[in-house]
Amino acid sequence: MSAEWTDEKRKEMLASFFKTAKSEFNRCLEFSMTCENKTIRAHSIQNSRILDNLVVDGHVTMFNLRIDKEKGAQVDYALVGRNNATTFSGLCSDHDNTIFKPIDDEAIDLKNKQHLFLLAYRAVHRELHATMDAAVKIQSSYIKKTELGLDPKDVPSEAGMIAVQKMMISWETYRYKTDFDMAYIKKDFDKICHNTFVFELENPTIAVCALFSVDNHVANDDALRIALNILPISQTQTFVVISYRDVDSLHARAALDRVLTSNGFHQRYELSRFILNNCENFVMSPTYVDSWTDEKKKEERKIERIKIIRIDDEGRLHLHPEEMEFNHIYRSAAEVHWNEETKSLYSPKPCEWTYIDWIRQILGAVRAEYGIELVIDENTSWENIRLISNSMKEN
Ligand SMILES: [Zn+2]
Repeated sequence: MSAEWTDEKRKEMLASFFKTAKSEFNRCLEFSMTCENKTIRAHSIQNSRILDNLVVDGHVTMFNLRIDKEKGAQVDYALVGRNNATTFSGLCSDHDNTIFKPIDDEAIDLKNKQHLFLLAYRAVHRELHATMDAAVKIQSSYIKKTELGLDPKDVPSEAGMIAVQKMMISWETYRYKTDFDMAYIKKDFDKICHNTFVFELENPTIAVCALFSVDNHVANDDALRIALNILPISQTQTFVVISYRDVDSLHARAALDRVLTSNGFHQRYELSRFILNNCENFVMSPTYVDSWTDEKKKEERKIERIKIIRIDDEGRLHLHPEEMEFNHIYRSAAEVHWNEETKSLYSPKPCEWTYIDWIRQILGAVRAEYGIELVIDENTSWENIRLISNSMKEN
């Protein structure tokens, strides 16, 4: 199989795949790329045993990162039914079952190489599907535009360039996936390396299944890619599995240095940076998110909208309120400060907490000291929380 998988062949195969897709990409992405079965909404994060630990009334809070032309990177979040959370239509039911059965049916074992491989493999499938879906959507809108005479056909236009760029990202992701496919076919699980941790937490807050490219790190002529799974396996334990190809291990360990060499709270903080900067596919516990924007509290208290959330060059988290000033916030003795110049509330660079913990801390300090509820909504812009996932949706 590998001998015949020349780049040319793969390109052809991928091109034919794109042709069959209309405005939404839903083809089974099993390794031979020949399956024509109908796709299902496959779970990237296991529903019954993993999501279960975050669910409230059948829902989790899902984050959606998108680029708004005027406002830049935006983060939306919404309650999503557990059956729809983190699903992707990139596998048929047969292949989803046969490939991922071991991690769906058995309790995840961090010493089991097949389990760890499959967790990463699923993240790779999901990312490939997301990049193909993005490429198809952009491509079809571009074609429509040229048909309507809105974009010139022969001259390179911006829309055309973006379409090509999306196809390239998709192609690179596909090529990357073939390394996982070969390892899967040969059961050569050592081709993928992992770092695993267990967090003992009071309440699970987050689940992640993502493959992302690490900025400024090139490995083997391609952007370095790392898969991340964060799985709350019970109310008190969360598993973290970080995976990369063995050929990338030197680069990956260098990029992950701060995550790998820290521990406890500090490690959680470093990981939270990774998630905020790179991941698109994650869900959180609604109870946890509710603590930021409690509807009932909003009714009783004065509300101030947060305009911008950003991380500055020194790693400090800033919240910019719309109008109000909070120059007495230091009285709350919560390590939250007011910057008169930037008109923002800020926290020190986290060393024991994650950014998410600090957002909560700042909201809590303002609530306690001023009786004002800071609100994060769909107009809040998230800055310098860089989103480099290949598959970001563009609006
Ligand atoms: Zn299939």
